[in-house]
Amino acid sequence: MQPIPVQLKADILADPYYKTCARKVVFDDHECQGRITFEHVIIFAGRQLNRKFAIIPLCEFAHSVGQFQNVGILDKEINLYIAINRATDEELKKISGAVDYQRLKKYLNKKYKEAIERAKIRTTQQNKAMHVYFTMVAEALNDAGLTVEEVIKHYRIELHWTDIMVKELIWKTAQRSMLKKESTTELRKQKEIDLIWEVVNRFLAKLKVESIAFPSIEEIMSKQRLLS
Ligand SMILES: [Zn+2]
Repeated sequence: MQPIPVQLKADILADPYYKTCARKVVFDDHECQGRITFEHVIIFAGRQLNRKFAIIPLCEFAHSVGQFQNVGILDKEINLYIAINRATDEELKKISGAVDYQRLKKYLNKKYKEAIERAKIRTTQQNKAMHVYFTMVAEALNDAGLTVEEVIKHYRIELHWTDIMVKELIWKTAQRSMLKKESTTELRKQKEIDLIWEVVNRFLAKLKVESIAFPSIEEIMSKQRLLS
C-alpha cells in the first residue's frame, strides 16, 4: 500500500469524516465490523492516488481487511462512486486521461441512484423511529408522574465516569437546554462556556462534588508544552 504523506495523514486524522465508515454512511448496506481503515480508491499513473478525495474510511468488513481478509464485502466500484462524488470537477479533470472520470461519475451516479435513495429513506425513517420511541418513553414517564430528577436518580448503571460520558451526559444536557446547541464545537464564546459551567458546577455541588474550576486556556497551553 502506498503510504499516506505525513501532512495528508494529519489532515485525515483530524477530519471527523474519517471517523465513520463511508460506505455505511452513503449506502447503509451493512453493519460495520472491525476498526476504521483507510482505502486508496483511485489508481493514477500506476500508483494509488494520494489525494484526500481518493482516500475513504471503511470499516474492516467493508474493506475486506484484517479479520475480514477475503470474507468482507469489498466493492471497488462502490468505493469509486463514493470517492468520485467527493472530488471537485477540477480534481476529476486533472486525473482524467485513459479513464474519463467525469463520464465515469455520470455512469456510476445513474447506476447507484436507487441504492442511495433507499439508504437516505432508511436513515430518515430510522431517525423518525428513534424520535417516536423517545416521545413514547417521555409520555410514559410523564403519565407515571415521574420527574426527570426522579428517573435519573434510579437510572443506575454501574459504570465509571469518563471524559466522554461527562461531556455527553452532563455537559451536553445543560448545553442543549440552555443554548439549544448540539455540538460542543458550536460554543464559540467563553461567555457561553461559563454559562454552562455554572449550571454543571451547581449540579455537581448538589452531589457534594467539590467545585472544579474551568481550566484557563493558558493552563492548557502550558501543560501541552510540558508534554511535548
Ligand atoms: Zn462499515
